[in-house]
Amino acid sequence: MKIDKIVLRQMKMNLKSPFTTSFATQTFKDFTVVEVHADGVVGYGDCSALTIPFYNEETNLTAYHIMKDFLIPMLKQTGNIGYPTEVRDIFAPIKRNKCAKAAVEGAIWDAYTKQKNIPLWKELGGVKDKVEAGVSIGIQSTPAALVKVVADYLQTGYKRIKIKIKPGHDIQYVQALRSEFGDITLMVDANSAYSLNDIDFFKQLDAYHLLMIEQPLAHDDIVDHRHLQQAIETPICLDESIHTVDDARKAIELGSGRIINIKVARVGGITETKLIHDLCAESGIPVWCGGMLDTAIGKAHNLAVSTLPNFTLPNDIPPSARYWEQDFMLPEVTMDKNSMVQVPDRPGIGFDINESLYRQYCYHEEMFQF
Ligand code: MG
Repeated sequence: MKIDKIVLRQMKMNLKSPFTTSFATQTFKDFTVVEVHADGVVGYGDCSALTIPFYNEETNLTAYHIMKDFLIPMLKQTGNIGYPTEVRDIFAPIKRNKCAKAAVEGAIWDAYTKQKNIPLWKELGGVKDKVEAGVSIGIQSTPAALVKVVADYLQTGYKRIKIKIKPGHDIQYVQALRSEFGDITLMVDANSAYSLNDIDFFKQLDAYHLLMIEQPLAHDDIVDHRHLQQAIETPICLDESIHTVDDARKAIELGSGRIINIKVARVGGITETKLIHDLCAESGIPVWCGGMLDTAIGKAHNLAVSTLPNFTLPNDIPPSARYWEQDFMLPEVTMDKNSMVQVPDRPGIGFDINESLYRQYCYHEEMFQF
C-alpha cells in the first residue's frame, strides 16, 4: 500500500452528561482523527488519549506531537507497506505512546481493507456479525442515584452493568444494586484506586457474585494483583496493566487475573490486540473490548476486533447515543433489545463519515504529503 498523504484533524465533541471515574470527571472529548489517503481510498483512525494523563501517560496533545513528529515521518521513510501488521514493527522503536500508534495503525487497517474491498473484521478473522454491548456507568453521588440510572439502562436493554468505584463509593453502591435488581450481570471497575491494604474490602465483595473486578490495584502492577486474586474468589480483570502481548504473558503466568480487557488504544493497535487475543485464547483467558469514551471511529475499530472468537464477554461498545448528542458516523451505532450491536458488512470499518458534523467538530487540521 502506498500512502499519498495523511491528515490529522483535531476535534471536540461534548458528552451528553459528565462521566466520573476514580480519577476524573469528563464533560467533553478532545481528540484527533487520522486520515490515511492511499490510492483513492481514505482510512480513518481515532486517537483515544484523554485531555489529562490520568488514565495513561498520554494526552491528546502529546499523542498529536508523537504522530506528527515521529510516527508519520517513520511511515514516510518506510515507503510502501505490504500488510498492516508491519506498522507495529515500524513503530516499535518508540516507547509506549500506544494511543498515538493505535490511531495511525487503525487508519492504515481501514485503508488497506477498503482497498481490498473486505470488511475489516473479516480480514482479522472475526467470526460473528453481532457483538454484545454492556454499559459502563460513572460514579454517582449516592447509591439511590445509581439505582435510578441503572433502572433506566436495564430498561433500554443492557444486560451487563458495569459501575465505576473508588474508596468511599463502592460497597454500598453494589449492595444497593443487588438488593434492587437481584441477580443482574454486574461488575465494578476501580481504575487502580485501591491497594493491598484493602484486601478485606475485596473479600467482602465476593459475597455479591460480581462478574469481575476490573483493575483494582495500581495501573502498572501485576504482582499485587496476583496476591489479591489468590485471596478472593471474584475474577480480577486487568485493564491498565496490560500494554503488550508480553505483559499479558507475564500476567497470565503469574495468575494476576482471570480475564483481560483489551483496549485497542491502550495496546497500540489492532495487531497487538490480535496477538493478545490469540495468547489469551490459548491460555483459557476470556477477553472483552474496553472503551475510552470512544467516538464513531474508535467504536468501529472496537466492533471489528470484538468479532474475534475469544471476545466472549460483553464489551464496552455502547450505541452512539449513550455518550453523544450526535456522533459523526453514518449510520450511528445502535443496539437491539438483546444488547447486541450489528457489525457492518461493508469494506473497511464499514461506516461513512457524516461530513457536515465532521467539519463542525473539527477545529484544526494539518496535512502531511508523502
Ligand atoms: Mg477499565
